[in-house]
Amino acid sequence: MPAQLLDGKLLAERIRQELRTARTALGKAPIRLVSLEVGQNPAAAVYVRNQTRAATEVGIEMEVTNLPIGTNEAELVATIGSLNGRPEVAGILVQRPLPPGIDPRVVQSAIDPHKDVEGMHPTNMGSILYREPLLPPCTAAAAQQLILATGLDLRGAETVVVGHSEIVGKPIAILLLHRLSTVTVCHVGTKHLADHTRRADILVVAVGKAGLVHGDIVKPGACVIDVGINQGADGRIVGDVDFASASAVAGYLTPVPGGVGPVTVAMLMRNTLRAAGARV
Ligand code: NAD
Repeated sequence: MPAQLLDGKLLAERIRQELRTARTALGKAPIRLVSLEVGQNPAAAVYVRNQTRAATEVGIEMEVTNLPIGTNEAELVATIGSLNGRPEVAGILVQRPLPPGIDPRVVQSAIDPHKDVEGMHPTNMGSILYREPLLPPCTAAAAQQLILATGLDLRGAETVVVGHSEIVGKPIAILLLHRLSTVTVCHVGTKHLADHTRRADILVVAVGKAGLVHGDIVKPGACVIDVGINQGADGRIVGDVDFASASAVAGYLTPVPGGVGPVTVAMLMRNTLRAAGARV
């Protein structure tokens, strides 16, 4: 039987409905999400468009600022400083990639942790070790939402995360650890990747290599979350998981596009409303 598709668009729509209710409860005062970008990157433009659409739908005002090419780190940090001081700005979002010479960690650290809706300020990143934070990193939170949507029992489940980046791999591993999953993290130094993936009840792949995970290294019935976004040979967007072979083996599988991506945007909106005081 082919894998059940974990439809991220549908889940994101359901989450946005809940968010609309939470937004209404916060009253009429504006809630603003500011997107900062240095220059104008075509890849970021797609994200900004999706983010703006989701924000409008939920009732968040999105302010898109493209700083001139040539803006340096100190200037970007100063811009963030002024946004930190504006009370109607609930969230600050920095589009990537940043130009060479601007350190993303310095930039992220300049954001008031209460306005860090990407959940990447060291304070928010650190607090993830204690418990599920108020403002978790959006993609990791999205992967978790998709897993929870299956209704699978995470306690004691063998979970393998492939990829150990700061924004996806590490935080998702810790979020699932909080749910008492037995978590293994694989990465570029892992010797026998298939030995790990083949015993995963839950497999999260966040690497950035098209076709890294084929169906032959997936456990039958597993829940597979494909975080990867890659340009396929024919120019189309594909994930890290070979969809055709994996869907013949897995129990659940996220498509790319239409899986983790839309839920990530919904998590950004959830974080923005949380930053504005919503209990959602
Ligand atoms: P990254 O480059 O920071 O990290 C890549 C990770 O893959 C590293 O931990 C590395 O050790 C590991 N890796 C590399 N080669 C490997 C191999 N052969 N076997 C096992 N592990 C290997 O990437 P990232 O920022 O975490 O992004 C990963 C992917 O997720 C990218 O395709 C990115 O575009 C995508 N992404 C998607 C979303 C979304 O919303 N859907 C958000 C963020 C990132």
